[in-house]
Order: sequence, then C-alpha cells, then structure tokens
Amino acid sequence: MLEDVPAHILMVEDDDAIAEPLARALGREGYEIARAANGAEALEMASGTNPVDLVLLDLGLPDMDGLDVCRRLRAGGFEAGIMILTARGGELDRVVGLDVGADDYLSKPFSLSELLARSRALLRRANRPLGATTDPVAEASTPTSPAPVAGGLRVEADARRVWIDDAELALTAKEFDVLLRLDAQRGSVVTREVLMSEVWDENWFGSTKTLDTTVGRLRQKLQDSHAPVALNTVRGVGFRLEDAAADA
Ligand code: CA
Repeated sequence: MLEDVPAHILMVEDDDAIAEPLARALGREGYEIARAANGAEALEMASGTNPVDLVLLDLGLPDMDGLDVCRRLRAGGFEAGIMILTARGGELDRVVGLDVGADDYLSKPFSLSELLARSRALLRRANRPLGATTDPVAEASTPTSPAPVAGGLRVEADARRVWIDDAELALTAKEFDVLLRLDAQRGSVVTREVLMSEVWDENWFGSTKTLDTTVGRLRQKLQDSHAPVALNTVRGVGFRLEDAAADA
C-alpha cells in the first residue's frame, strides 16, 4: 500500500448528531470515512470491495446489537481494527466487547483527541498509513530515547510495543499509555491526576474508575506474563511501577 493512501474508517453509528460532526473531524485529519447507520449495512460494507482499515462501532444500533456486528465481522474473517464506541460504559460491556473481537473500547462521551490517539494506535498496529503523524499522548509523556532495558520489561514508546524478555505483551492503547507513563518514572509514584490528564484527557472530569479498571487489567496482564515488575497502588495518591523482588 502506498504511503500517501489515507486510512479508511468505517463508522457504524445511527445517531446523526454524533456521526456527522465526527465524520467531518476525521475527514479533516485525512481519513477516508464511510458510514453505516445500522448493523446490516456495516456487515455489508465491511465485506464489500471498498477497503476498511478501522471500524468505529456503536453498540446501540437500530437493527442489531453492536456486539453481534463485531462477532459476525470476526467470524467472517474481518481482520482490521475494531473500536467500540458506546454510551453504556459498563465494565461488563467492555469485557464482552473485547471478548467478541474488538481491539479497543471508548465510552461516550469521549474527546476527539482521545479517539484520534486510539485510532492511530490501532491503525499503526495494523501497519496502515496514518491520517496524521503525531500522537499527543506519546508526545506529552514520552522520552524519545530508547526505553531502558530494566527488569526484563521494555516499553518501546515510538513503536508502542512492550516486551518481557523476548515475548511481546499485547496491550490496549490505554493500558500501553498508562504503562508508558509509569515506566518513565519507574520506582516513583505517578498520581492519579497526572495519569488521568495525560493518558485520558486534560479536560477529564468525574469518576476515575476507568483508570482503576485499566490499571487492574494491566496489572493482571503483567502478572500473567510473569513480568518482573510490580504495579503497586499507593492508596489515595496513585500508582508506582517497581522492579519486583527476586522472590516475589
Ligand atoms: Ca446508537
């Protein structure tokens, strides 16, 4: 694929009030946008002749549940990224969403900058041409020098990849951003406020439950893959990534 071919995004959203401004914004970023207003249309368009590099998928569709759309896309061999956009926002939905083959999950309301950052991450993962070349999240918090090799855990900021010795650890975009931020200050506490504003959005408000959920998932993945680090909660303050004790 040529470098200057824009990435194609299929937006599956029945709500014009969301779809229309979002399509315009993504278009300004250089993406080619196609829109489906229901599940049947989405399935048809994803299997059609026009390329689709990323699907933005609403769950509340008029004809079928977005989760079923996701499941059927994957069952049909659809391999591009799928990001669920939902007003539900429940933990169960998120888990189920990732279970049925979605790559990421964003709760409404979301900020455009967050959607763009995550879209870029998914497109980058699939080696698709980008609609833009900068990543505000990475720029805000990331040294561009190679990440130090320490404790067997290596976080590559530019490539957005994480290695534990020679094994790559698969993380969602947010899990990666949190880990990257913690790793940049390994051994020190990073406050909840810093994580929320740098990883999510500077204009975040309300509950930080999403942070705890992401940290919980990240911690579980680190444990499951025997990463020689500990992701500790400092109650009421934030989180600290530490090299694990040898016998931990
Ligand atoms: Ca909807």
